Amino acid sequence: MSAIDDLPPLSQVIETHGIAAKKALGQNFLLDLNLTAKIARMAGDLSQCDVLEVGPGPGGLTRGLLAEGARKVLAIEKDARCLPALAEIAAAYPGRLEVISGDALEIDPLAYLTPPIKVAANLPYNVGTELLIRWLTPTDWPPFWQSLTLMFQKEVAERIVAQPGSKAYGRLALLAQWRADPRIVLNLPPGVFSPPPKVSSAVVHLTALPEPRFPADAATLERVVAKAFNQRRKMLRAALKGLVPDLEDHLIAAGIKPTDRAETVGLEQFCALAQLIKPV
Ligand code: SAM
Repeated sequence: MSAIDDLPPLSQVIETHGIAAKKALGQNFLLDLNLTAKIARMAGDLSQCDVLEVGPGPGGLTRGLLAEGARKVLAIEKDARCLPALAEIAAAYPGRLEVISGDALEIDPLAYLTPPIKVAANLPYNVGTELLIRWLTPTDWPPFWQSLTLMFQKEVAERIVAQPGSKAYGRLALLAQWRADPRIVLNLPPGVFSPPPKVSSAVVHLTALPEPRFPADAATLERVVAKAFNQRRKMLRAALKGLVPDLEDHLIAAGIKPTDRAETVGLEQFCALAQLIKPV
């Protein structure tokens, strides 16, 4: 295995800078630089793109993204202990790494980035899901990003790509598949992280579609889907009760049987229903 750069191994970086993993920050670090380079390659050609990386930690994925040729990486990290390690990477790749110290949930990265933009991150799972939902639900489409390459708990990754009829199918699948093309591109066992988490992980790659797969008003679709899956075991005529006065007629017009349950209804039907009931 050849080194991806001339910087020290990550275990040494962590020791030198005293970055012992903190559970409260969801710190499970990737220490194998060949693996981080592989994840970076899953984001596709980076040479013409700015890359937003959230939660770089000691910089394993950051180094992968830079070694794979990213035009620029903007890295937002909450843990100030990681800043000296990230400064060393910035010095090794002059002008290509900008680090912002702070909470990614509070920072608007767009002021620092030039399109086209890709996003790559190995984040704590709760922060990752919150950011994914934000990135999938802007008012205007296409969004600021071309693609998202994100690490999730395997079970969350399966919810993102789930199809109707499966247990994992729900709001996250519909949000992700309406305006993007999500795929699980890599499964990872706990042992590749330091310290190892309790669960397996997976990298999901989402490509933004130029326009939504089916026409629908975003706010109405989100309202319908949230209500439908809030009581996923109920028939839709009950789960969606109160949504519109003539609900059953609307369901039938959208190609949905009023006795169907949310988990068996496809994206196209949910979009058709949202179109029929959208406020004028
Ligand atoms: N990317 C590194 C890697 O692959 O080894 C670190 C991954 S670790 C799972 C998650 C990182 O996200 C940690 O460095 C943590 O400090 C950082 N982090 C946690 N919450 C954050 C937030 N709200 N904003 C920015 N960074 C955050």
